[in-house]
Amino acid sequence: MTSELVVVTGAGGFIGGHLVGDLLRQGYRRVRAIDRKPLDEWYQIHDGVENAVLDLSLRESCQRACAGAAHVYQLAADMGGMGFIETHKAECMLSVLINTHMLQAARDSGVERFFFASSACVYNAERQTDPDVTALREEDAYPALAEDGYGWEKLFSERMCRHFLEDYGLETRVARFHNVYGPLGTWEGGREKAPAALCRKAIEAKLSSDPTIEIWGDGRQTRSFMYVDDVLQGIHLIMHGSVSDPLNLGSSELVSINELADIVERISGQQLTRYYNLDAPRGVNGRNSDNTRLREAVGWEPSTPLIEGMERTYKWIHDEYMRRYGGRLGPRVAAPRGAHSSSA
Ligand code: NAD
Repeated sequence: MTSELVVVTGAGGFIGGHLVGDLLRQGYRRVRAIDRKPLDEWYQIHDGVENAVLDLSLRESCQRACAGAAHVYQLAADMGGMGFIETHKAECMLSVLINTHMLQAARDSGVERFFFASSACVYNAERQTDPDVTALREEDAYPALAEDGYGWEKLFSERMCRHFLEDYGLETRVARFHNVYGPLGTWEGGREKAPAALCRKAIEAKLSSDPTIEIWGDGRQTRSFMYVDDVLQGIHLIMHGSVSDPLNLGSSELVSINELADIVERISGQQLTRYYNLDAPRGVNGRNSDNTRLREAVGWEPSTPLIEGMERTYKWIHDEYMRRYGGRLGPRVAAPRGAHSSSA
């Protein structure tokens, strides 16, 4: 097992960087890590790994990426939190080039297993209108009414995985990640997601002695958040399991954004004043992960309590902030106005 070549794409990003480290810890000795970003922008660089900077929207790059590989973990995508995906729909959809070329290259190189990182954004928006949610089961993606842009691309690429298995025998595995958070990820710049953004805002509130933080939407929208250690465990189990249909990979600990802000308030040790920006992107009203099928498939589900994961995440972002801005307040960026779409 461990002498086989495994490839992680999107390895300069948040989850991909952690995944490379996890594969090394599992004993894989031949790991190829690929990302479009220059190496000095990767969140993690691991020793003993073949690191390559390639643009995987190009077919030749995907052929180089997959050459000789036994397993491929396809995590590369243009993505971010709601602030990014609601305002960059075309860019998000162009990730279809990565998925198309990666699947073709994997098939042509004789790759044994291909993992695709899908998203909870594939789910039908009409099932996510109430903050008091019924957790989403895998079949709730159809009839299709995915998150416009990003979600449609993920749903289309999921189906490509299915048909590459049916038509060409490429063993594909698909996980629908629900909001992943943790250290060594994006916490500023516009692509960050709610947990990291709230940590950063709390740190800024402390540094500026102004307790006001901006919450996108009315704070009543609900979500579940999965700590990065859980996503790694889930990727491993799904990749080596027998279920090829898409599986939810998410925490089922549902919280409102206000409750998430309560947690950040507690961790950062301060009382914050909340300003609700109703013009900012906010996504669907409610979303949770039904893990019945995941438990049946792999006998496990994510379980890191949100408070524990958030403590570790806050500490890491705090240290990064101090390092980057020398203990002073960094630039604060205004929220984009929410883009209106037909489905989300
Ligand atoms: P990330 O943005 O940190 O990592 C994605 C990486 O892909 C980036 O480093 C980016 O440079 C790279 N990339 C983009 N286009 C590329 C290209 N053309 N060629 C090569 N590399 C390219 O995101 P992440 O949070 O680590 O997410 C990893 C995967 O998981 C993505 O596919 C994402 O859609 C999926 N996902 C993540 C979450 C989450 O909460 N983080 C939720 C659902 C799904």
